Amino acid sequence: MTELAFLSDPAAAYVRSFRAKVVALPPGAVVLDRTFFYPTGGGQPNDRGTLGVPGEESAEVVDVTKSGSSVVHRIRGPTNVLRRFSVGVEVEGTLDWERRYRHMRLHTGQHLLSARIFARTRLRTRRAQMAGTSANLDLEGTLPPEVLPLLAADLADALAHPHPVTLRHIPRAEWDANPFAERSGLVPLPTQVDPVRVVEIEASDVCPCGGTHLRSTAEIGKVTIRPPVPAEGGDRVGFSLVDASRPTPPG
Ligand SMILES: [Zn+2]
Repeated sequence: MTELAFLSDPAAAYVRSFRAKVVALPPGAVVLDRTFFYPTGGGQPNDRGTLGVPGEESAEVVDVTKSGSSVVHRIRGPTNVLRRFSVGVEVEGTLDWERRYRHMRLHTGQHLLSARIFARTRLRTRRAQMAGTSANLDLEGTLPPEVLPLLAADLADALAHPHPVTLRHIPRAEWDANPFAERSGLVPLPTQVDPVRVVEIEASDVCPCGGTHLRSTAEIGKVTIRPPVPAEGGDRVGFSLVDASRPTPPG
């Protein structure tokens, strides 16, 4: 079992390097007792980076996936580096921060855009997908064209007048009793999820989510929204980060 250490609190999403113990070595891969590497899921791509014995040459982390309750880090490197991994050994992981921070900006931008689309049109998001410097949202219907400039103004406003993003872990029973029925996402919460990790963008959105998010909507930066195109079952609307390598403000 791997502790998903990036989930615990908002600051945990900003951890770039960490130490952990090797608990299993599937072929070509490493399982740790805890990790800050995000495994592919919920539309957010996996992290990449390096993993190695402290003070020694590191292996490259090329893929990260969830397998049951474990996180599997697929690694690549010279044989002498790979041979240093053994069960019980302490290793140091370092995230490819530029990549991860882009995903945090896209992911938080997606929450905000889904919320604004819902507020303006009552259309909910069926699915979201992030890759590189852009994100796509698949909606449950057709987006009226006149809404597009309003959404662009909403995102610009979130940059000019930032909202904090906060995190709570609440018991499932509490969530079910007050499920924020007005939420902008359509994906049902799996029955086994308890407690529920609730991500809130102040005055904008409440959403159960296991991804990595920013502390503030200001960090999303400038984005450009792409006009909707028809996708299966509704429109697909996308946005891209204008400045893909925006520096991370000190927390
Ligand atoms: Zn999220």
